[in-house]
Amino acid sequence: MLGYYFEKFFTIYARRFFIRPVCPIPSTPSLSIETTNICNSRCIFCANLVMRREKKSLSLEAFKRSVDEYAAMGGEEIDFNVTIGDPLLDKYLLDRVRYVRRRYRQIKTVGFITSLQWLHRYDLEEFFNSGLTWISVSTVLSGRDRYRDFFGVDKYYQMLANLKMLLIENRRKNTPLIVWIAIKPTPEPAKIIMKHPDYQEIKLLSRLDLDTQIRKRHFYVDDWIGAIKLPRYLKKRPLYYRRKRPCRILYKGLMIFSNGNIGACSCRDFEADSDLILGNIESDSLQGTWKSERLSSIRSDWLNDNKIPHICRSCRHYLY
Ligand code: SF4
Ligand code: SF4
Repeated sequence: MLGYYFEKFFTIYARRFFIRPVCPIPSTPSLSIETTNICNSRCIFCANLVMRREKKSLSLEAFKRSVDEYAAMGGEEIDFNVTIGDPLLDKYLLDRVRYVRRRYRQIKTVGFITSLQWLHRYDLEEFFNSGLTWISVSTVLSGRDRYRDFFGVDKYYQMLANLKMLLIENRRKNTPLIVWIAIKPTPEPAKIIMKHPDYQEIKLLSRLDLDTQIRKRHFYVDDWIGAIKLPRYLKKRPLYYRRKRPCRILYKGLMIFSNGNIGACSCRDFEADSDLILGNIESDSLQGTWKSERLSSIRSDWLNDNKIPHICRSCRHYLY
């Protein structure tokens, strides 16, 4: 028993306070492309409510240049995950997926996170044939009111019809697409969610273990560097100790924002203007940016001299 508590203390607490993790720097980064920062939803835990930067889609030219450069670097991991935005609202979405998958065999997976509210605008055959390999649906499945409370828009039935259509067609085609469903935390008991007929129907159709997801759901989220006020039932993730311990995200990959800016953080730089912005795809190369003195000194200044980038000081999304 003592051993169990010692191990728990060591792995959870001691690691956090006493051990400085050494993150290897991959020769080729992963690449996230924010194809658009347009999103109609107003989720209660998202900085879309306060974002001031222009809402736009990344130009196709800049997109192609980014993908070409990334492939030339030997890159294999690409996604259209956004900091803010819903990729289904990007009119070039399928053109972009086709460009990546048909041109570069080395890039084996392409996908994105979405609310799925706008899938009905697409031709489903084209959608499945585009080369998309995965999709993650953020949703609430316990009724219209709960959905509207969380997403800030009255699109529950539109989302639900789209989700059913996607799951049924995917099954009919022998599951070419990996479909994940991420259920957002709502202030209601797990039992109530699990009893809801829509939840049960989607559970059957998706064959995912949604029950475990609901039972293990947690209410700790981050507040986007203090930019948003969370409702009472959601709690702020702790501000973990980070002295001389750079966030792991700085070692993983690059982000291209919808305005072309290249950033070192794909998660919380919602205005795309922080001290982690390294250049712009219009004028800077991806390879040069990944190997740049600037990125290297962001990491080493934090690691050696505890000079933490301003945006990272109060970020509750910090990964250690
Ligand atoms: S759907 Fe995503 S990007 Fe849009 S408001 Fe919600 S969390 Fe933010
Ligand atoms: S601490 Fe926050 S802002 Fe800084 S790199 Fe990590 S996730 Fe991004």
